[in-house]
Amino acid sequence: MHDALAALRSPASAWIYSPTRFRERLARLREALAPSTILYAMKACADPAILAAATEAADGIECASTGELNAAAGAGARRLAFSGPAKTAADFAAAAAPPVPVVVHAESVRQLDGLAAAGFTGPVALRVNRGPALPGTHQMTGTPTPFGIDPVDVAAALDRARALGLDVAGFHLHAVSNCLDAAAYIGHVRSALAWSRQTARSNRLDLRYVNVGGGLGADPRGETIDLGALAAGLEGLDTTGIELVFEPGRYLAQAAGWYVADVVDVKTVAGQVFAIIRGGTHHFRLPAAWGYSHPFTVLRGPGRPEASNTQVRVCGELCTPRDVLNTGQNVDTIATGDRLLFANAGAYGWEISHDRFLDHARPTRIVID
Ligand SMILES: *Cc1c(COP(=O)(O)O)cnc(C)c1O
Repeated sequence: MHDALAALRSPASAWIYSPTRFRERLARLREALAPSTILYAMKACADPAILAAATEAADGIECASTGELNAAAGAGARRLAFSGPAKTAADFAAAAAPPVPVVVHAESVRQLDGLAAAGFTGPVALRVNRGPALPGTHQMTGTPTPFGIDPVDVAAALDRARALGLDVAGFHLHAVSNCLDAAAYIGHVRSALAWSRQTARSNRLDLRYVNVGGGLGADPRGETIDLGALAAGLEGLDTTGIELVFEPGRYLAQAAGWYVADVVDVKTVAGQVFAIIRGGTHHFRLPAAWGYSHPFTVLRGPGRPEASNTQVRVCGELCTPRDVLNTGQNVDTIATGDRLLFANAGAYGWEISHDRFLDHARPTRIVID
């Protein structure tokens, strides 16, 4: 990290990724959730170095577009899952001719029809919006969302799949993102399994697959879900005959990425100290998207301090007052030429950013160990 930062030309806007950090998180998660299957939800961070680490160390990759499907297969994934509420005929065709085995998470009856029409013969899991909403930053179930089907329509959907000759292996029950409450997540896994068994029994479905989704919490401000509590709460869970699948993105990628931006100007306006950086929310959109202040560390540059013991607002190079990464963090000193390091930024950081806006130079990409 030290060498990577030293080699970075000023003024920098850069993303730094560590596949080693990613692998460490994955190893800890594997231990906590063994013997469950872990698919990496690549939309959290699709950087090639991270994706390569994931294809090597996870059981497979969860994709939500044909583009992701191709990228994951190209990176050597052994197994794929294919989600997404708006799959088109082209997506069904891609799923029907997969380079590696793929399980399709069908989000509607129309998707079952599309899969059958494309000649898909692999396993299908029916995505269902069931159960209570879980604590987290994004609720996918327990509230009206475009994801999956209503529980009251499950029986009809299974009949339809049977009539189409599709192989329904089970259910996909992704519920939440950034759930930091281990007890609530344990409840989700247990009730998802019980509901799947019950639903399979009453519909004469041979249940082999229950995917409880991702959503394991790893907040960009640093906090993570308690893995020890999660492991303890899932101990002894009876999964006989069923592959229990988790597909985390955020938890695995959060600590594997840093955003770095250099201060190009410091000024005080209306009593507020501003640090203006090369880069901004078009390179790291998450703080603006969620409306929070991302913590940072000041790496002192050669410049004389321009403000001391003060709260500083960190703004980017865009011509909008919303280009703010932190509305006010206390710093010892701040100066033009200082480098700001934003840790725990690897998940949904660069991936969700709108870098085309204003056409500034793209961020530099650096891969460390
Ligand atoms: C985004 C997503 C995930 C990953 O969610 P995280 O909160 O990053 O763990 C998993 N499954 C599906 C279907 C998703 O859309």
